[in-house]
Amino acid sequence: MKAAILHGPGDLRVEQVSEPAGEVLIDVEAATACATDTKALRHGHLILGPYPARFGHETVGVREDTGERVLVGDSVPCGACAPCQAGRTQLCEDMTWVLGGFAERMSAPAAALHAVPCGLDAAGAAMAEPLAAAVHAVARAGDGEDAAVLGGGTMGLMLARLLVLEGRAVTLCDRHPERRAQARALGARAVESLGRHQLVMEAVGRPQAWRTAIEAAAPGATVVLVGGCPGGCEVTLPAAALHYAELDVRGAFHHTPAEVDRALELLASGDIDWRMLAGETIGLEQLGEALVRPSAGEARKLVVDPQR
Ligand SMILES: [Zn+2]
Ligand SMILES: [Zn+2]
Repeated sequence: MKAAILHGPGDLRVEQVSEPAGEVLIDVEAATACATDTKALRHGHLILGPYPARFGHETVGVREDTGERVLVGDSVPCGACAPCQAGRTQLCEDMTWVLGGFAERMSAPAAALHAVPCGLDAAGAAMAEPLAAAVHAVARAGDGEDAAVLGGGTMGLMLARLLVLEGRAVTLCDRHPERRAQARALGARAVESLGRHQLVMEAVGRPQAWRTAIEAAAPGATVVLVGGCPGGCEVTLPAAALHYAELDVRGAFHHTPAEVDRALELLASGDIDWRMLAGETIGLEQLGEALVRPSAGEARKLVVDPQR
C-alpha cells in the first residue's frame, strides 16, 4: 500500500510500504493536516516514532472488521499515571500516540477509535481532532463574558465559534482581512489589534503572540495559551501585568477522549460548520509540497484523500 513516510527533517517520500499490523485496520478516507504536520515534516516532532516514521493524526476511515466509519483518535492515555488518575488524561505521562493517517491504510488500538455520527462526512469528522483541542481550551477559559481570540488560523476560528456558541461577546484579532471575514461569518467581531478583554485566548504559538495576549488582558483577566511555541523556546513576559493585574495565565494542551466525542457531536449538528474551514482535497503525492506552501488568505485545512 501507499503511504507518506518521513525519512528525516524535510524528507517526505510517498512510497509502497508493508501493510500495517495492529489491533484494528482502517481504510483511510480523509486525513486533515495542521501545523503539527508541517512541524513534523520540517523539524521532526516529539510525538513521531523513530525514522522512517508514518504521520498524520487527524484521520477518519472505515474499520475493515466492522465496516463502521471511525475517527482514529491520535492518542490513548495509559489510565494509570498520576494525571490520568486525576482525570486529566491529556497530560498522560505514558501516552500512546496513534499516527499514520497519511496512508491508504493504518492500524490503531480499538481504544483510539470513536464512532462517527451518521451523516457527517469523513473530511468533517477528521476535524474533530483539532476541534477537541479547542473544546478543551475553552473548558480551561473560565467564564469571562468579553472574550478575545488572538490569531485567525483554523484553531483561532474554532475557538471563536465555540465562544460564540456559549453566548460570549467574541472579538477575533488577525492581520489578514480574509480571516477577519471568516471570523465575522462565525458570529465574532474581528479587528486588527486588540483592546483589553476579560478573557484572551492565544492561538498563534509564537513568543510575541504570548506577550501580546498578556498585554490585551484586562485586570483580573484569564489568558489561555493555546498555540504551542517551537520546542526549546523561552518567552519573556511583562512581570507587572502578571502581578499587579492578577492575571490568570493558563496553558491548554490536547484533549480527552470525551472531548473528541463532544467535537464530533458539534460537527454533526452543524453548530460547527466544517465546510467553512475545509480547504482543497489533495492526494498523498501533493502532501509534501502542500505542507510547506506559505499560507495566505483564508484559513482552511488541507484535506488528504489517500485513495486518490
Ligand atoms: Zn493537528
Ligand atoms: Zn496516563
